[in-house]
Amino acid sequence: MVIFQKSYIKGKNMEKNREIDNREFEQTITKMLELLGEDPSREGLLKTPSRVAKALQFLTEGYHQDPKEILNQALFTSSNDEMVVVRDIEFYSMCEHHMLPIIGRAHVAYIPDGKVVGLSKIPRIVNVFARRLQIQEQMTEQIADAILNTINPQGVAVVIHARHMCMEMRGVQKINSTTVSSALRGLFKSDQRTRSEFYNIINTPAPSNF
Ligand code: ZN
Repeated sequence: MVIFQKSYIKGKNMEKNREIDNREFEQTITKMLELLGEDPSREGLLKTPSRVAKALQFLTEGYHQDPKEILNQALFTSSNDEMVVVRDIEFYSMCEHHMLPIIGRAHVAYIPDGKVVGLSKIPRIVNVFARRLQIQEQMTEQIADAILNTINPQGVAVVIHARHMCMEMRGVQKINSTTVSSALRGLFKSDQRTRSEFYNIINTPAPSNF
């Protein structure tokens, strides 16, 4: 009973804090609209500050998620030691320099060493890191290391192809240029045949009925 009351009070306080944070957040967006030369009181913009605040909170919710906890929820003992590949995982992130979208696909592979993870957790791990302010290379490494340090596999490989709106919408305006980054750990780094097998798998076009 005491514990219940304590957590109840704690929950209420947290909610109150979040309300204050949201208000401050919305006021900041209102100020931003003014600085852009807009009139935040016009009809179309009335709800914009609260919408932007909510959208940004959703797009950065990865800060409040623990990749280890997610992987540990679905970790199973297995004698399988064949390569597991989850390819074409779509993600949406934001660059940490301009807070503009990064739109991409991730390919993730690992070779188990006594433990496998539920397949649905791999896209979730990609999202944990995508929903933060990012640079592509760092995100690629973070995904690889989260898997390496939790599943302890014989190897991990992550390849990311992405388009950066900060390049396409502004600056050099190179439309449709893709940036590729990779992080290879364990067998994927030391064994050329493992690496080629992985690249063959991710470079083979998906069957058309998929
Ligand atoms: Zn950028």
